[in-house]
Amino acid sequence: MRVLFLYNEVESLALQYLSKALRKAGHTTGCLFDPKLFDSFRAEVNLLPGLDRVFSFERQILERVAEFKPDVVGFTVLTPNFSWCQHYAAKIREIVPNAKIVGGGYHCSAAAEDVLRTELFDYAFRGEAEEAFVEFVNSLEDGAIDHGIDNLTYLDEHDRYVENPLRPYESDTDVFDFPDKDLFHKLGPPFDAGTLVQLNRGCPWGCTFCGNNKYRKMYFPEKKDYMFTRDFLRMRSIDHALAELRWLKETYDPGLLRVNDDDMCADEAWLKELAERMTDAERIPYKCFVIPNNVNERTVEYLKRTGCEQIQMGVQSLTMQTRKMIGRPNTDAQIAKAVDLIREAGIGLYVDQIFGMPWESEDDAKKVEQFYIDHPADFVSVYWLDVWAGSDMLKQAVAGGMITQEESDAIGSTIRDGCISTKREWHADFMKPYASRINVRNYFPNTAEFLIKTGLWHVVDKLNLFKWKRLWWAAKNTIRKDRYPPAREGYDFSWLRFPRLAWFYGKLKLKGWAGKLVGIKVKVPMSELPPLGKPYAERSKDERGAPILDHAREPLATDPAPAAAAAAEQVDHAA
Ligand code: SF4
Repeated sequence: MRVLFLYNEVESLALQYLSKALRKAGHTTGCLFDPKLFDSFRAEVNLLPGLDRVFSFERQILERVAEFKPDVVGFTVLTPNFSWCQHYAAKIREIVPNAKIVGGGYHCSAAAEDVLRTELFDYAFRGEAEEAFVEFVNSLEDGAIDHGIDNLTYLDEHDRYVENPLRPYESDTDVFDFPDKDLFHKLGPPFDAGTLVQLNRGCPWGCTFCGNNKYRKMYFPEKKDYMFTRDFLRMRSIDHALAELRWLKETYDPGLLRVNDDDMCADEAWLKELAERMTDAERIPYKCFVIPNNVNERTVEYLKRTGCEQIQMGVQSLTMQTRKMIGRPNTDAQIAKAVDLIREAGIGLYVDQIFGMPWESEDDAKKVEQFYIDHPADFVSVYWLDVWAGSDMLKQAVAGGMITQEESDAIGSTIRDGCISTKREWHADFMKPYASRINVRNYFPNTAEFLIKTGLWHVVDKLNLFKWKRLWWAAKNTIRKDRYPPAREGYDFSWLRFPRLAWFYGKLKLKGWAGKLVGIKVKVPMSELPPLGKPYAERSKDERGAPILDHAREPLATDPAPAAAAAAEQVDHAA
């Protein structure tokens, strides 16, 4: 079978894992990428209205779809990109009417029925679907789709929604092969400027605004609170993690890495062992995510030794009551200590701070501003609260009067144009001046106090000089792809990536216009990866039934269980 994935804006590790599993089963995979120039989820790069249409690659992408001749087209559907997926699914239906159009990803887990009721997707998968998706494609090639596959959802012949059970979370993450980096790397820029890696799967927390909140409810409905639990956190063996880093370095030599783990410090013993065993053959400068609970003198040292150059830390709220409500049981003192330790270690610190929680007051905003004066980070990134389908924040937002019940009910099916919070800032207008002054300190650190004392910050805000400074930093930092931009100047390598992306696709557009004059067609890049081993059609019955995940690997060199238990105890204590 030929399986084509479509994605936009950024690299997708989920698709890379699916691709590898499919190819091991004997199928061909490919990927088409929509750069969405000037239509990015980062609003500051959308320079002028209408530019997105001028620089659209829709026609070329659809031509490539027809050329690939897919049997299956797969989308990773997220709440913010749902409308984009719908748009392309509708077009693809016209071009390759016999291809099955399949959705996976967070939005399918949270609102599969809404996805299917659009009638643009034939099937949707909930949860982690490496095995389920391969079984689905296998059965399609065998001549009849197996409708009993776990995780699968569909509308039956009577238009009834059918949701098959979830298979349990795979707890041994060493069974997943290294992801197919080539799926994106072969597309060329900007994927040559850094790459993603997932060392461990899952998050031990379940914050009410986050997708992990929904996954926790799906996989562990008996867990009623959002407290730390190791059930979600699935650590790879150090051997397996190091082997992937070595392979990445040898094969792609990425200058920069973004470790996608939700909380890199969640298991201190694991991180310690990683630091002790890592050599230069595996060390790649990286950026990672942490939350304050697990940041201490030791974890910061391990991060430093393993090559961490930047940390993005989700603080989200500086009010104890709010943190309790969203599932972040940490203290102000823990947050302050984490900020100070990371800065003292010389690691760039980028802090995420949510504004616009339904119940927040002006005093809360004042506290945020003062906190970062007392404990400065390199950059304090203010996000307006985004509400995702399926998360408990939906209920909290209705209860707090932020959205109506009708709006909440409609989020699964009708959300358009990305995050809701990019369209509305709800009732939190009183927080705007605080957000602006935080940005003045972010972007104009040397003159910030003068601008704030004299009131000139209003002018800076009105003219949105932040956007232009941001763009300048992005352009400046894109020239060097072998080092991170300073934390203040860059949101990891996506800021190296955007100008690179714009440059590459901008040139392609110009070539396309010029080509039209002389009758030459310009194509957008498309990756196509052959099966690993024999194609499925040529495999014997036994080979076709081979296990998808490799449970038969060698025993781990290190048993992670005692270390994991110790770390859980430590973190539970901290919480
Ligand atoms: S700690 Fe981060 S990744 Fe984990 S549930 Fe909370 S917001 Fe999500």
